[in-house]
Amino acid sequence: MGAPERVTARATRLLAPNPGPMTLDGTNTWILREPGVDGCVVIDPGPLHEEHLAGVAAMGSVQLIVLTHGHPDHAEGALRLRELTGAAVTARDEALCVGAPALRPDDVSQVASVEWLTVLTPGHSSDSVCFVLGADRALLTGDTVLGRGTTVVAHPDGRLADYLDSLQRLRDLADQDIDVLLPGHGPTLSDPLGVLDYYLTHRQERLEQVRAALADGAVDAKDVVRRVYADVDQVLWPAAERSVRAQLEYLEDVQDRS
Ligand SMILES: [Zn+2]
Repeated sequence: MGAPERVTARATRLLAPNPGPMTLDGTNTWILREPGVDGCVVIDPGPLHEEHLAGVAAMGSVQLIVLTHGHPDHAEGALRLRELTGAAVTARDEALCVGAPALRPDDVSQVASVEWLTVLTPGHSSDSVCFVLGADRALLTGDTVLGRGTTVVAHPDGRLADYLDSLQRLRDLADQDIDVLLPGHGPTLSDPLGVLDYYLTHRQERLEQVRAALADGAVDAKDVVRRVYADVDQVLWPAAERSVRAQLEYLEDVQDRS
């Protein structure tokens, strides 16, 4: 179990003990608290891990549990944390909400004196959202941007056209209002614009590689993965295949429109 780590004036990280090839060091559970206030807001309780959730519950009087998206490494522990704290659960996906309405685009929320803005960022998953913690010039990115490497477009729920739009939206925000990214996995990032530019460039490069693989005779998604992701650890190939399927769908859509 990691010790709580204060990262900005209002955001403290508690690392969940679920490291892995997809989760990096583990899921970052973020506790948001206005200085001097006991109540707090929990972003992404993480997996159903009793000791981790007890540690989160001990961080103060939890007033609300908020999910960046519904993937189990972020959301699975939500109901147990609600049992421990009595806090309501909210997310973009209504099906994940308990005792609170679903998050809406560009909503400004204030709970326990913490204020944040919800930004819809579908792509990694259809229900992905990011949160602007304006007072700290920080952006909580969930799995839309990771602390290391790049993320998966989890096709068919995640779609590449959405993801590219979302990255562009975050880039515009980062240009004006954001100094630090607080991701769902991995370390915090202090060059938001550089990171988002890298993500956008990386996606375009991968698209070019997929186009080239198809032109070169690649027959299906698996074949594209073998050719394009040769430099990536094979344990990540199933995830890469989902991203490739998202890219193939995107390329087909572009073709249909032209
Ligand atoms: Zn995810």
